[in-house]
Amino acid sequence: MVVAKTHTQYNPANPSQCVGEVLLSTVEEVAREVEKAKQAFVEWSRTSPVARGEILRKAADIIEENIELVAQTATNEMGKTFPEMIGEVKRGAMILRYFAQEGMRAIGEMLPSANSSNVLYSVRVPVGVVGAITPWNFPVAIPLWKIAPALIYGNSVVWKPAVENALTAQLIVQYLKEAGLPEDVIILLQGGAEIGSVIVENKQISAITFTGSNAVGQIIAKQAVAQNKKYQLELGGKNAAIVLQDANLKQAAKLVIEGAMKQTGQRCTATSRVYIEEGVYEETLQLLCEEAAQIELGVTMGPIVSKVQFEKILKLIDQAKEQGATVLVGGKAATNPALHDGYFIEPTILTNVTQDMAIMKEEVFGPVVAIMKVADYEEAVALTNDSAFGLSASLFTSTIQYAFDFINRVEVGLVQINGETGGAEPQAPFGGVKSSSSGTREQGQAAKEFFTTYKTVTINTK
Ligand code: NAD
Repeated sequence: MVVAKTHTQYNPANPSQCVGEVLLSTVEEVAREVEKAKQAFVEWSRTSPVARGEILRKAADIIEENIELVAQTATNEMGKTFPEMIGEVKRGAMILRYFAQEGMRAIGEMLPSANSSNVLYSVRVPVGVVGAITPWNFPVAIPLWKIAPALIYGNSVVWKPAVENALTAQLIVQYLKEAGLPEDVIILLQGGAEIGSVIVENKQISAITFTGSNAVGQIIAKQAVAQNKKYQLELGGKNAAIVLQDANLKQAAKLVIEGAMKQTGQRCTATSRVYIEEGVYEETLQLLCEEAAQIELGVTMGPIVSKVQFEKILKLIDQAKEQGATVLVGGKAATNPALHDGYFIEPTILTNVTQDMAIMKEEVFGPVVAIMKVADYEEAVALTNDSAFGLSASLFTSTIQYAFDFINRVEVGLVQINGETGGAEPQAPFGGVKSSSSGTREQGQAAKEFFTTYKTVTINTK
């Protein structure tokens, strides 16, 4: 007999505080549960998309009614500050409402046929059971921007959240069911890599949507290709911001620090590298320090999600220092005893870095930003594009020619002019190029491409 294991969740802001326990799924359970999702798919895919939309809309209402509980649960288990989580839960409700509307939009195209007696059309149909594997850093928004489009287009979903979000995930599934989602149309499986891998391997699952690290993405891609399974990977970033001398420097400094430090830098779109034109280098550094000084650890900035990540980030900072980087701000774990030995790292600004250092190449996923002086716009664009990643980038300027040139030449999926590198709205396609993505896009109308497939129909009317 297989004995199910439990996982105890601790608060990263105060690691001695237990915040809950969750029963982990077993490998044996996966096949049984996927089979249930396969059965549920039959009825669900025949349900009117308008009726499906009503369920998503109701789920948005229920989630908003319980916004404080959802936000507090996520704050406790993964450390994002409560106000940040409130913002994310609201965004989750917006995502549900956006995709609810999709239930009333066209799902096909009437086409002319070369044969005048033929009726020719294409119709979008669901792909089947979708496996959704999600990271810990957006416990509500990322799962919902996969689950909502999957459901509205008629798929059933097997969802494995990161174990760091296990409790928040339970609430989301509970609310979807309270909103009227039929049994087994969504199946929640709890666990880590082993359960995730068994889900990817399961032959009843037609498509895998994954957000997470590049290392895991590569493994999933190989497994999916071996089975000719549809897959979508949204991966890491090493996002750059450029500050030109004609920029509004105060605004640029504010948005660079927001981009780097929001959510403790644990965003795939976080600003991680900054290139400043030499004429305004010193002044911009000063402004960046002033902005960083306003961050209050434990109040406006939460902890790192786990001890492993905490140690990894500190190691990257130390390595950069050994290679000659200067710590302008922060650079170490918090020393304030009031922070209960939580995994807090001070907001960190590094200078005297070079493009070949790991701190300029690898994703840090923490409150760390590295800054380089550049001669001009051309050098800044070249350095921005000199990266394996291609998720997002910002340009701060008041020259429209630079803005449009940058939009054309920068090798990323998300471009910001005078904005911070993060930020996504449910109606806009989201994703990167190069190593940041498998080339697909999430959200907006782009979501349809992954969560549906075409059926082309020809009817001979004679
Ligand atoms: P991770 O890759 O460690 O884990 C992501 C998910 O995959 C988790 O649910 C995990 O349990 C599961 N998993 C781990 N090994 C697996 C395996 N072998 N098979 C199947 N599933 C497996 O990532 P993380 O640490 O949770 O998240 C941080 C990463 O996510 C960062 O690299 C970040 O940039 C990326 N991210 C990307 C986006 C985006 O849209 N591009 C958004 C958010 C986060």
